[in-house]
Amino acid sequence: MSNELSEPAIDLLCDLVRRRSITPDDAGCQALLAARLARLGFTCETLQFNDVTNLWARFGDTSPVLCFAGHTDVVPPGDETQWSTDPFEPTFKAGVLYGRGSADMKSGLAAMIVAIEEFLEAHADFTGSIAMLITSDEEGRARDGTLRVMDALADRDERIDWCVLGEPSSQDVLGDIVRIGRRGSLSGMLKVNGVQGHVAYPHLADNPIRAFAPVLAELHEIVWDDGNEYFPPTSFQVLDVRAGIGAPNVTPGELSARFNFRYSTEWTHDSLQEKVHAVFDAHDIDYELDWHLSGKPFLTEPGVLINAVHQAVVEHTGSAPELSTGGGTSDGRFISPAGVDVVELGPVNASIHKIDEHVRVKDVIALTGMYRRIMELMLL
Ligand SMILES: [Zn+2]
Repeated sequence: MSNELSEPAIDLLCDLVRRRSITPDDAGCQALLAARLARLGFTCETLQFNDVTNLWARFGDTSPVLCFAGHTDVVPPGDETQWSTDPFEPTFKAGVLYGRGSADMKSGLAAMIVAIEEFLEAHADFTGSIAMLITSDEEGRARDGTLRVMDALADRDERIDWCVLGEPSSQDVLGDIVRIGRRGSLSGMLKVNGVQGHVAYPHLADNPIRAFAPVLAELHEIVWDDGNEYFPPTSFQVLDVRAGIGAPNVTPGELSARFNFRYSTEWTHDSLQEKVHAVFDAHDIDYELDWHLSGKPFLTEPGVLINAVHQAVVEHTGSAPELSTGGGTSDGRFISPAGVDVVELGPVNASIHKIDEHVRVKDVIALTGMYRRIMELMLL
């Protein structure tokens, strides 16, 4: 055993990294976690949806419910020969543990389990319940994971009040960034209809590029918003525009385009769509527009949860965390709509999804202490 430190969170992390849980395969990770939780008196429920395994575990039956959430699945290692060590054999070098999932996010899970064990051992009496919501489909399509578990909980009127996600939120040092929300992501798939024709006889054709160009210019000129206290300004980006049939003397009969909004809480997906349609409708253009919403924006307002997380970080690091809504989407987008305050606090994310993914051993131990402190501050 290469772990000379023999810290409980590190031992558990090693056991998790050894399980080759590439999305959506849980590879026995959740059984391992459930066994630990069941020993503490948690009621553990496996919720299997298609090929995705989810775990809902709860200790106590009163409110408020503090839920720790995360995922056991990892992204594939890529070309394993490029790794300095076996991605599924945890390896220690100079106080750092290497392995796929070590940062995203098996260290978060290990720290949560050990923090809960330590908390329950120290405090027989506390207010409310502790829960864990774990999925094996965060890195994949995310259709049969956290979203379905939240639906199942809603169906039986079981609610979560506060949620701590163990995603790797930190940038340079542990606890420097805490995520308190995420921007929304809304995509538009556009088709502009025209009439194909000879380039020399434009009056007999209807060129969709000419019709779309002024609309595109106008969409680019709009200042969607200036952001707000917690969100950067909404951004509109065009990803793809295509038309033309490849011949030098034919104007196209059709144009397709794809664009995306990363949007702040100043908008809803409905109000954004209405605005875009209004721009199109003000022009002489024959178009079809399909929308795909991959995540609504969410924000946890300052309150009990953010205060507790803030204090736990300050006590361990001596510095106040930056409260951020940056980054891509996370499973917080499925939890927050149920009226849950969601905060993401986890290890440094510099190596996630990369070759030689790693986490500092010291950080996993400190993170365990932070999670335990959050429970003390909120449940005692
Ligand atoms: Zn993750």
